[in-house]
Amino acid sequence: MKCPHCGLIVTDRVPVCQGCGFSIGDLDRKLGRAPERAGFVNDFASLLLPDEKAQLEERLSQFQQKNRGELVLVTAPGTRPVKPSEYVFWLFNCWQVGGENHAGVMLLLAQEERRIESEVGYSWEPVITDLESWEILDELVAPLLREGKTFEGLRQGTERLIAILEGALQPPDKSSPGDTSPGGKDAAGEKNQDEEGEIS
Ligand SMILES: [Zn+2]
Repeated sequence: MKCPHCGLIVTDRVPVCQGCGFSIGDLDRKLGRAPERAGFVNDFASLLLPDEKAQLEERLSQFQQKNRGELVLVTAPGTRPVKPSEYVFWLFNCWQVGGENHAGVMLLLAQEERRIESEVGYSWEPVITDLESWEILDELVAPLLREGKTFEGLRQGTERLIAILEGALQPPDKSSPGDTSPGGKDAAGEKNQDEEGEIS
């Protein structure tokens, strides 16, 4: 993962970024205690219906069992006093997503800030590049969120990430049932400079 301030690669719960002096301790002091993790789906902003949440939880549980790594979804009412990009970095580290191998991805939807952010553990950084995660969030997920389709945005973003990860982590001997259809791209061309989903 990268320092949310200067972009320098940091590989663990480093006390201080060597690039800019940013410290995860600063985030601890501003944010206090991390919320308790609920599972793979952590809908702290209550944006999902129970069956939507259950469907995503089941999908992500299957993914974790199959791939020895995890994809975690978080919705937060807001991330003040820090930026969503800092919050996702902080929460990923607090929860140690992906275990000691850091084989994990977190997607954060910050409701008040109207932003979606991702954090990728360093084991999977070669698999999910910045460009790919930016494209998934900005072109696929953000347009759906703008339409108020929260579940659909999270579901499609999740399926796209799973398709990329499974394509890279497993031998390509059988076709993936993942939703790799480019349907979500239809809405992408129009407003890809919009603020939402933009990765800072
Ligand atoms: Zn830095």
